[in-house]
Amino acid sequence: MLLKDKVALITGSASGIGKEIAFEYARQGAKVVIADLALEAASATANDIIKAGGTAMGVAMDVTNEAQVEKGVADAVKAFGGMDILISNAGIQIISPVVDLTLDNWKKMLAIHMDGAFLTTRACMRAMIAGGKGGSVIYMGSVHSHEASPFKAPYVAAKHGLLGLAKVVAKEGAKNQIRSNVICPGFVRTPLVDKQIPEQAKEFGISEEDVIKKVMLKDTVDGEFTTTQDVAQTAVFLAAFPTNALTGQSIIVSHGWSMQ
Ligand code: NAD
Repeated sequence: MLLKDKVALITGSASGIGKEIAFEYARQGAKVVIADLALEAASATANDIIKAGGTAMGVAMDVTNEAQVEKGVADAVKAFGGMDILISNAGIQIISPVVDLTLDNWKKMLAIHMDGAFLTTRACMRAMIAGGKGGSVIYMGSVHSHEASPFKAPYVAAKHGLLGLAKVVAKEGAKNQIRSNVICPGFVRTPLVDKQIPEQAKEFGISEEDVIKKVMLKDTVDGEFTTTQDVAQTAVFLAAFPTNALTGQSIIVSHGWSMQ
């Protein structure tokens, strides 16, 4: 067990990548806090982890809401006795050309990906410093933290922004043994991706099959999707890493779509 008794708060973990990380962390011995928009969905995921033999709790947390973030982190610290790992993972996608993008949609995307990362980082760093045992902050970036695609302006901007935040947190966190890194997955079949396949087909004027083959997986080395388990294993590796040698970095997990 690589994460025995570590307390890990994972945002957006009632679905997709975050949910898989939550299950894998529980298998590795972590006490997992499922933080998501709806308490019902967060608690249902936590209950499934408990049924499988793990330790978990659900909290209602809109990551753009300062009060909910503060309360969710405080409740987790109270229930599990500290905070060791933050995975800032909650996210959405909006497909639109820049010329058609509304200011509301631009702001919505930046709020979830950037404000959410900041608010959860601040609350968890404070708890980690108070605990005096250091910690690990992991941001869910994307290949779009390094590359661009059409129709994804606010997503690409926000995912690039996470690299900057992670580097500052690495520098400021070092004196308290807090490390900070970014995982950058390629396309993973989750509800977030399933929703955008027809949307991209419409914008590009091609079939859904061609969106997968000619857009999403075109530049991979083997035409394969990245899996939630690929990302979860990377998240275990980063959280379990024992020293400050691995901090301020981004790891791209994308079947070679992007090679930096
Ligand atoms: P998903 O839609 O399966 O899950 C996202 C979760 O985030 C949902 O449970 C949703 O309720 C939650 N969420 C949305 N807004 C929230 C908010 N304001 N506060 C709290 N929770 C909120 O998506 P996913 O594919 O698992 O995506 C997870 C992360 O991985 C995102 O940051 C996404 O950008 C990133 N990512 C995904 C892919 C991919 O191909 N799926 C690739 C690279 C990066």
